[in-house]
Amino acid sequence: MTDFKAIISGAGPAGLSAAVLLALDGVKCAIIAPPFVDDPRTTALMQPAMQMLKFIGLWPSDLQSHCAALKQLHLVDDTGNMFAAPRVEFSAREMNLEEFGWNVPLAKLVPALQARAQELGVVFIEGTSASVETRESQITVKTDAGQTLTAEVILIADGAKSKLREQLGFDIETERFDQMALATSFEHSVRHDFISTEFHKSAGPFTTVPLPGNRSSLVWMERPARMAELMALTDNQLAIEIQLESHGLLGKISNIGPRKTFQMQSQRATSFAKNRAILIGEAAHALPPIGAQGLNLSLRDAAQAADLIIGSADAGAENICTKYNGLRRADVLPRQQMVALLNRSLLSGLLPFNMARAGGLAAIAKFSPLRGLAMRQGLSPALGLPFAMR
Ligand SMILES: Cc1cc2nc3c(=O)[nH]c(=O)nc-3n(C[C@H](O)[C@H](O)[C@H](O)COP(=O)(O)OP(=O)(O)OC[C@H]3O[C@@H](n4cnc5c(N)ncnc54)[C@H](O)[C@@H]3O)c2cc1C
Repeated sequence: MTDFKAIISGAGPAGLSAAVLLALDGVKCAIIAPPFVDDPRTTALMQPAMQMLKFIGLWPSDLQSHCAALKQLHLVDDTGNMFAAPRVEFSAREMNLEEFGWNVPLAKLVPALQARAQELGVVFIEGTSASVETRESQITVKTDAGQTLTAEVILIADGAKSKLREQLGFDIETERFDQMALATSFEHSVRHDFISTEFHKSAGPFTTVPLPGNRSSLVWMERPARMAELMALTDNQLAIEIQLESHGLLGKISNIGPRKTFQMQSQRATSFAKNRAILIGEAAHALPPIGAQGLNLSLRDAAQAADLIIGSADAGAENICTKYNGLRRADVLPRQQMVALLNRSLLSGLLPFNMARAGGLAAIAKFSPLRGLAMRQGLSPALGLPFAMR
């Protein structure tokens, strides 16, 4: 008999979502959770992820007042290359939707998920998981405070640098890009009209995403040397740079929010589950923030893991790990490869890459069935969705 059916290591959005989904179905679970560190990132969550927030009772709620709907997504070729792609405009209306999804600040989403998990009786163990051991019928986790916990399965949701993943012998494939991403937010004088614009530049995308009122969040990818210069600027100087890079699309820029940079990489574990351990979120896969795929994939990991664990006789059984691995790889791999390819095509500056990217985007801009296919693929996987997202 184990202390819990499932232990979750890591209380980021992926780990907390898994804990909430399990607790909603009465699964006895604990989450090992260091204190939340404020995060300036906002995440564009598409319809399936929003459906999950509804399912767990977080949408609509107070959270909504901090979020903005995403009604259109525009891609603008700003590489200055000879073969420039035409502007591509995706509209939710084309898919008979009010919006593709919502832009949700992590600083609001994570505390809301935490509160919901507490309400549902998830046991919070403050601290970090220090070690894990797998036995035939259970896993044993030790925390940094010396506490020992047992469960049938562990969900490893402790981020891209997970130590438990390493201890359990999961192999990782990593492609590091010579590129950083700056996450911040700003106020602007021109309305965003609920349009997110992704400018494709030679150092990577520069993407504005609507927030409530005349405010937007920004993900700006740059080479490390240029990023160091940007981070050294005052808020007023950075506002001018943003205004220039966005070609005045949003008018005068002011009131810059907190900033944080992230090293860009494409990383993936070669297996997503084995030996009573299931990897979810960035512990399983990390990718550059292009096309808003990262957390959307991670929430699908959480919901898929919950589907398999709920009602199982043994949550860490080999057949559960095998099924999870197969289902999640089919969703993650093609998206990760597509994002990495697009990113590489911008960074390489090579003519054949530019021509291929411009040609692909031109076809999408011109043919509405192709545009529809791209939008459907961007929103959800072809193979179906976990229960909480349907
Ligand atoms: C600039 C930027 C913009 C992005 N925009 C989008 C977007 O628009 N849409 C989208 O879908 N995705 C987006 N993403 C991706 C998204 O932000 C991430 O996928 C998501 O935040 C990862 O969540 P996670 O829960 O897997 O990991 P994390 O948020 O990294 O959480 C891991 C948690 O584990 C904890 N932890 C670490 N070690 C231990 C331990 N030993 N024991 C216990 N806990 C531990 C950490 O403290 C942390 O709380 C973006 C990413 C970046 C970099």
